[in-house]
Amino acid sequence: MTCIFCQIIKGEAVGQILYRDEQVTAFRDVHPIAPVHVLVVPNRHINSLEEAGEADEALLGHMLRVGRQMAAKEGVRDSGYRLVINTGPDAGQSVLHLHLHAIGGRPLPFRFEK
Ligand code: AMP
Repeated sequence: MTCIFCQIIKGEAVGQILYRDEQVTAFRDVHPIAPVHVLVVPNRHINSLEEAGEADEALLGHMLRVGRQMAAKEGVRDSGYRLVINTGPDAGQSVLHLHLHAIGGRPLPFRFEK
């Protein structure tokens, strides 16, 4: 199986990596929807949030904390930011490797369509 995020984590594909530790890697989204758009990705392949188990609770918390750190590093801590995990087809998950979007740098409208 070829997973583009696994390839970026392993250095086999190009990614603008901002942060890396034992658990996660953070890199810029290749198609940013805002001035700041960083992805925080577990180094271990997990398809989606649905496949994260009880043993991954610390990992999920770490992803949130690194997302917050990336927002601060990118200068949007005070202006605000959004952390998002798309899960499954209706949410538009397009890469089947769990990832947290950290988005900011402009006002982010939030609308639910009925
Ligand atoms: P999602 O739609 O939540 O699955 O988000 C996947 C995100 O991955 C999208 O915002 C894409 O722009 C981004 N993406 C896809 N391929 C790459 C890549 N090679 N490097 C960085 N970001 C990517």
